[in-house]
Amino acid sequence: MSMAMISPAEADASPTIGSETTKADRPVLQLVGVRKVFSDFAAVDGIDVDIKEGEFVTIVGPSGSGKTTLLRMLAGMEAPTGGYISLRGQLINDVPPDKRPTCLVFQSLALFPHKTVGENIEFPLKVRKVRVAERKARALELMRIVRLPEHYYSKNVMQCSGGEKQRVALARAFAYDPDVLFFDEPLSALDYKLKKALEKELKDLHRQSGKTFVYITHSLEEAMVMSDRVGVMNQGKLVQIGTPDEIYTRPATKFVAEFFGEVNSFAVQRDGVGGWRLTDGTPMHLAKVPGNVGDTATVIVRPETMRFVVGPSKADNLIAGTIYNEYLLGSRVQYQVRSGERIHLVEAPRAAVAGLAAGDRVMIGWDARDAIVVGE
Ligand code: ATP
Repeated sequence: MSMAMISPAEADASPTIGSETTKADRPVLQLVGVRKVFSDFAAVDGIDVDIKEGEFVTIVGPSGSGKTTLLRMLAGMEAPTGGYISLRGQLINDVPPDKRPTCLVFQSLALFPHKTVGENIEFPLKVRKVRVAERKARALELMRIVRLPEHYYSKNVMQCSGGEKQRVALARAFAYDPDVLFFDEPLSALDYKLKKALEKELKDLHRQSGKTFVYITHSLEEAMVMSDRVGVMNQGKLVQIGTPDEIYTRPATKFVAEFFGEVNSFAVQRDGVGGWRLTDGTPMHLAKVPGNVGDTATVIVRPETMRFVVGPSKADNLIAGTIYNEYLLGSRVQYQVRSGERIHLVEAPRAAVAGLAAGDRVMIGWDARDAIVVGE
């Protein structure tokens, strides 16, 4: 775990960037063209982003996309090979972890195994020579915040469950009183139910503490639940950053759209008379086409906006097919519908599709406004 505050003297001695901005409108973290090249491979390839005071920003991306390398640079465990990282206007590229007012919480926790919960949480306070009674009071307060029972104060940390250890690590991170907390997949080793509970608790903790959180994960679901903004990384680049709703409804690229789960995608081209068609010539009705799209594009239709079209109901785009498979997803059902060589996905609430079964001939369709158009 990294920690410690930059003393005012150190902070004043650091070079500054972005000097025209006033303190109040500065982002807490500013990344300009941040790069990390290992030998001749760019693990992080030019990231520009401003993170605002008190924001919860989550970076998602597939394995190897550069998330951990980026976080390690933010926490001071790796130095960038290019670009600038500034914290409250101070350039921190080469400031070591223990001289930054930041703290990293990671999956392996790095708790002291032979110490009690209380001793673990109090460690940062002890380092700062805070008096015993004050330390204990603060540890108990933090334990309340992360919902650990008071009597755990004297419990050996190794006798705690995975979720409890995670709470201890969080409480210890808060004991450092950092300006920014970095999280490296802290929940990935936990079972589904506990993970879901802790996601919500972390979001509450973020709101209550007012601190800035930067979190990385593979799990988009986790990112969607907790974050103010989600950044999507691919091959060392930040391909999009926006609110969870923006990323979901207006993905900038096919990669982002497909990263958000299974989708139907169609290659389309302009038909020369102001419309669009599939490569086999079938017309495709689209409502909004972003300005940066050329003569070809990909249309994304999410399984939950694709529907069975029965009786007099209509849809702007229709496909005839046969139900090939069905999967129960809790309260929803996903159908695979085969049409020629293609398989389309339709997801619907369980109650809405009673009676459909594999082998049934069906019409499926979607409305133009539900089609997401992304450039190549
Ligand atoms: P995961 O989700 O699997 O942890 P990630 O998105 O966090 O992946 P990184 O761990 O940042 O990805 O790695 C990005 C790329 O950089 C990978 O191809 C990795 O092999 C490479 N890489 C990371 N650290 C080093 C290093 N010290 N030396 C050489 N290559 C490295």
